[in-house]
Amino acid sequence: MTARKEIEPVGVIGDGIVQLRLPMAGNPLGYINGYLVEEDDGYTLIDCGWRADDVLAALHAGLALCGLTLADVRRLLVTHFHFDHYGLAGTLLRAGVAELGMHRLDWEFAQRILVDEAQADAESDRWIERNGLRVDASLEEEIHHRRTELTEPTRTLEDGDAVGRLRAVWTPGHSPGHLCFVDSLSGRMFTGDHVLDPITPHVGVWHEGRGDPLGDYVASLHKVDALGARGVCPAHGEPFPDLHRRVEELLAHEGTREAHVLAALERAPANATQVAMSLPWTRREKPFTDLSPAHQQFAVAETLAHLEHLRRNETVSREADGLVYALSA
Ligand SMILES: [Zn+2]
Ligand SMILES: [Zn+2]
Repeated sequence: MTARKEIEPVGVIGDGIVQLRLPMAGNPLGYINGYLVEEDDGYTLIDCGWRADDVLAALHAGLALCGLTLADVRRLLVTHFHFDHYGLAGTLLRAGVAELGMHRLDWEFAQRILVDEAQADAESDRWIERNGLRVDASLEEEIHHRRTELTEPTRTLEDGDAVGRLRAVWTPGHSPGHLCFVDSLSGRMFTGDHVLDPITPHVGVWHEGRGDPLGDYVASLHKVDALGARGVCPAHGEPFPDLHRRVEELLAHEGTREAHVLAALERAPANATQVAMSLPWTRREKPFTDLSPAHQQFAVAETLAHLEHLRRNETVSREADGLVYALSA
């Protein structure tokens, strides 16, 4: 067994930016980055980890290593509503953080999902089942339950809004209201889960009528690429210098996946699960059947994102009731 490397709690980026590595116990990602950004009126924290005592303790410890306390954190900005980025927000507001900013669409989406998580889960289970995968609800990890709470932002953000030295860039795809933040001082970009390295961000269709999140995602990749950045600060993994290189890799990855999906449909019309079963999964190119039940659901949701994108551009069509996809004549 190899010894697990201790996670350094703090990384100094420079230009008044500090990376706080916050634990994600039991999750293979290991940690999520909260970024402290120095402003005239205190610090802005970008993303805060999920709601758990060890995350709050790590946040306090990281601040202390910087000679700060939570009282120095003026505001929290979240890149999106997922529990590992937003779960602790309510705790922090109650502890005195004055402001919470997030995109309006993710606030709307969070209200739909988090008011009754069990019901929202049951709905997405039904949707995945209709797309051909038997979901055994008893097997599902209740990992995100109780690790988040619905917390109303003090300010909803739109594309281009400035918050101190940061400017919000709306990058829908991974979530409907995902935001990246550009630092006007250093030229760095905080990319949340939109651009990660070496992880490929998940883009899935978990609800009927979700639209074309993959099309949104690809457009958002081109959007940040056109803006450019002098350094990328992602929510998972470590900061890296070259935004353009990583965007090209992610676009190439989606292109390869699309080719696989089309090749599957060339053999025969199929539902999303049947298509997913013919694709290689994860960086290790595992067969679908080797994935855990939870990861099989992610795989089907991701395949659906490709199928719905191809349906949007009329390359494939979908049978009205069976959710069977076929190449357009
Ligand atoms: Zn996310
Ligand atoms: Zn995340």
